Amino acid sequence: MLRLDLIHPEISGNKWFKLHLNLEAARQQKARRIITFGGAFSNHIAACATACKLAGFESLAIVRGEKTDPINHTLKHAMREGMQLEFVSREQYRHKTESDFIRELLQRFPDSYIIPEGGDNALGVEGCRAILGDHSAAYDHIFCAVGTGTTFRGLEQSKTPDQWLSGIPVLKGFDGYTGLKANYKTNYHFGGYASHTRELLVFKEWFEMQYRIPLDYVYTAKLCYAVFDLIQKNEIETGTRILIIHSGGLQGNAGYETRYNLKPSRQLIDAQG
Ligand SMILES: *Cc1c(COP(=O)(O)O)cnc(C)c1O
Repeated sequence: MLRLDLIHPEISGNKWFKLHLNLEAARQQKARRIITFGGAFSNHIAACATACKLAGFESLAIVRGEKTDPINHTLKHAMREGMQLEFVSREQYRHKTESDFIRELLQRFPDSYIIPEGGDNALGVEGCRAILGDHSAAYDHIFCAVGTGTTFRGLEQSKTPDQWLSGIPVLKGFDGYTGLKANYKTNYHFGGYASHTRELLVFKEWFEMQYRIPLDYVYTAKLCYAVFDLIQKNEIETGTRILIIHSGGLQGNAGYETRYNLKPSRQLIDAQG
């Protein structure tokens, strides 16, 4: 497992890779402020808030949906980091990439650099090319979770020609990406984005006890479940050296556990020493 969750306590996982070239471009354009987008539980918003603070940018997030009282763990963190939050209805949020919406935003907040939802742009993909390197060359089959697919595309561009890459979508309605046996359809969303089943919770807890590696509910628990399930179903050849990309996301666990009234699994790990 490639532990991108360990690269920074706040700018965790793949988010740093998607952000850093964007911040560099913002600096070159002499922007003062970063504007980005996301849902209330967005790991991207959390990471972006800290990255902007460290890099000396003001930051603003356009958040999907009504403001809740109290606001959740993720948004509290973002605010503590100095990020300004603006809540828009789900209907308005749908227009976020349209030129009128962007123009109006830039009129109200001049000198801003815009990073799309999830860091999903060309510089985000390019940044993700640096996830793989010499350390990963010895593996035959790489697995990553897929949200926007930015990370997947970066990995696709930087893997060696004989490495296989499989993306496990965590949203409903997407089939597995490449690298599985012909036409194998993956279905590991467990009810959809930010949803889960009892089976997933049991697996997550088992995995964390077994390997002492914490997972997040939205992405990496589903990713690891998928890999173990595919092994069990003989979809992966014996002897294959598998590399799982741990894309982070642990900051979201506290908010997720509150939302679904779950027992924090980190305590389970700690209790085991
Ligand atoms: C954001 C995120 C992803 C999704 O990455 P994409 O590049 O949008 O596909 C995967 N894992 C974690 C933990 C994330 O926070």
